[in-house]
Amino acid sequence: MAGIDARFRELSRNIPIPRPWNLTAYVGAVAEFRGRAITVHPVDTTVLAGAGCGTGSGLWIAKRDADVIVYGADTTEWHAEHIVAHELGHMLLGHGPDRAAGDNAPSTPHTLAAVAELLPSISPESIRHVLGRTDYGSIRERDAETFADLVMLRAMRPRRDSMLHTTFFRDRGC
Ligand SMILES: [Zn+2]
Repeated sequence: MAGIDARFRELSRNIPIPRPWNLTAYVGAVAEFRGRAITVHPVDTTVLAGAGCGTGSGLWIAKRDADVIVYGADTTEWHAEHIVAHELGHMLLGHGPDRAAGDNAPSTPHTLAAVAELLPSISPESIRHVLGRTDYGSIRERDAETFADLVMLRAMRPRRDSMLHTTFFRDRGC
């Protein structure tokens, strides 16, 4: 089984990290890659009551035909983007309800369901699963967190560095 670094490298070949960094563009690229729309919803962190994942402030709501990422918005922009990238990590690393190990219908704790229902654009009956911290287990949590670290690192890396990696050959003749 490939480690998280190798999986990240493979994923970032299929879904390039936008340069200059643009979270909206990246979310769009992930949605296109997965063939499911993704919308991102800021909420007040207290609404999540620590039930989300990462640092307790991210939630993946899997609807029948689309996905919603909810994040606690009362934080720095960098941290908010890290939370969203963490949830994208769960999606891309296959941590969703369909592949849950030993699938006993992943739990949807009351807090999370309540959060989902707070969102005006989501009809409760369209929700398949709400995935918070307790749904993933520590290894998946750690992998999603590492994925988010790698995305944000790559996003913030000076351009010259990435040219060495990605355009070295193409630019040789210049
Ligand atoms: Zn998580």
